[in-house]
Amino acid sequence: MSASFHPIDDVLLAYAAGSLDQAMALLVASHLTLCPRCRDEVARAEAVGGVLLDDLPPTDTALGLLDAVLARLDEPAPAVPVSLPPPAPGSILPQPLRQSLGGDLDRVRWKRLGQGLEQALVLQSGRSRARLYRIAPGLRIPEHGHDGTELTLVLQGGFSDLNGHYLAGDIACADDGVVHRPTADRDGYCLCLAVTDAPLRLTGLVGRLVSPFLNL
Ligand SMILES: [Zn+2]
Repeated sequence: MSASFHPIDDVLLAYAAGSLDQAMALLVASHLTLCPRCRDEVARAEAVGGVLLDDLPPTDTALGLLDAVLARLDEPAPAVPVSLPPPAPGSILPQPLRQSLGGDLDRVRWKRLGQGLEQALVLQSGRSRARLYRIAPGLRIPEHGHDGTELTLVLQGGFSDLNGHYLAGDIACADDGVVHRPTADRDGYCLCLAVTDAPLRLTGLVGRLVSPFLNL
């Protein structure tokens, strides 16, 4: 499997530096198990960051470190493996997600949000929330906007929004001001892991109707 939509470099760098919150780190770690390209990026950033941390005097600032990491990312990548196992045979959940759930999909306690739409909270850290969504074939999610960032990793099936068509392994990113209405593919259930760092704003009529049930 090869993903077409990836987290932006800043997010991968922050992951490599260990500075993402738990919910966002879970999403990135799950993507890494499905995406060799991003695994390589993170391995490079970790290797460069490790070398720099060894080299730098303790007075250097984190900002200086980031600049230095960015500068060195253009250099040839050292061969350092990122030790993340692939999804287990027979499971569609990446290992980091199974670890957070303490098991597989059968551990998930779904909460019905409406016809064909279910949600389960996986973890919360600060203002961030990681949730699983199970979406019926062809369902349109209520139109919603964002006060912060929402990253959505497709685990099974697929969905489309204004920016593209996302399949297993892909990450869709919606930032401040983006109002969208993702639609699940018609050929099967869509399973996603979505992480938000601020509450969603539901905008359309259906959104206003569904809002009380979303428990955001
Ligand atoms: Zn990727």
